[in-house]
Amino acid sequence: MSDTTMAKPKVSGLESLEFGAARIRVDDKKIINCRADLNQLVPFKYDWAWDKYLKACANHWMPNEINMSADIALWNSPDGLTADEREIIERNLGFFSTADSLVANNLVLAVYRHITNPECRQYLLRQAFEEALHTHAYQYVIESLRMDEAKVFNMYREIPSVATKAAWALGYTESLGDPLFATGTPEADQRLLRDLIAFYVVFEGIFFYVGFTQVLSMGRRNKMVGTAEQFQYILRDESMHLNFGIDVINQIKIENPHLWTAAFQKEIIAMVKEGVNLEYQYAIDTMPRGILGLNAAMFQDYLQYIANRRLLQIGLPEEYPGVTNPFPWMSEMIDLKKEKNFFETRVTEYQTGGTLSWED
Ligand code: FE
Repeated sequence: MSDTTMAKPKVSGLESLEFGAARIRVDDKKIINCRADLNQLVPFKYDWAWDKYLKACANHWMPNEINMSADIALWNSPDGLTADEREIIERNLGFFSTADSLVANNLVLAVYRHITNPECRQYLLRQAFEEALHTHAYQYVIESLRMDEAKVFNMYREIPSVATKAAWALGYTESLGDPLFATGTPEADQRLLRDLIAFYVVFEGIFFYVGFTQVLSMGRRNKMVGTAEQFQYILRDESMHLNFGIDVINQIKIENPHLWTAAFQKEIIAMVKEGVNLEYQYAIDTMPRGILGLNAAMFQDYLQYIANRRLLQIGLPEEYPGVTNPFPWMSEMIDLKKEKNFFETRVTEYQTGGTLSWED
């Protein structure tokens, strides 16, 4: 490729330093397409991003600190779980074990380059580590249960209901990951905004929720409690990823109102509805028969309920009027700030980082 066709990244933070240049001001900062120095965290402009970074650090946890012995005993017991229950655990580990790597790759190789302010990048770095922890958690469960690793990690290539969601998401990261893709035109900026909505609102905000509900529901019935506890911590992290993503999306809209056209809104609504349909199909495929007091039809209501909330959060109308939440206990799961966590395996307030006291 000749020099003339090779575009240089315009806003990476690795541009040359201009010695003696004017100091950065808050007004110089922009959520995308910022030309100001990206290596200076302060002065803060996007306090919400810094605040989420601090909160995420305070929620630090490690997968190998969770006791898996009850799960191992149950998994290996001949009359422990039904075939349908085993299938649910396997399918969800199959989906999530690669899904969080996919999100991490999208963040680090695509999104990070185009979000041009240091506060958001600080959160993205923390989020990327959390995605690594989540992949670690799935690997830890798979290893603890001595599952067929190759079978589980290849489900996203071999099992249609798992593969469909991963393939859908990959389509929304292609252009952002292209080294020649640059923001700065309305078309390219819309592409970035669409891909952010695809990842934060649909992939992390809808595609994770059938699996989370299935596994957490098992934990509520005292089955696979270690796996469910891992999922509970992951869900807490993911709900913050979603909220961060929504803040980024709304900030891009505020700073670039010309992107939010009627046609673009229509496209986003169609994309969210497509996500709901794909996730509902996943519920049917992973749960052909009712199980644990759940059935696939309940997930239709649940997915429509959460899609309504996601749409409202990014300033779009509800698409499924009147639908109610069949799993109100899921919102308790997201809030772990309790004296004891739901499964009562330990006393929590599992918040460590940044809260150390030096007086002891
Ligand atoms: Fe995530």
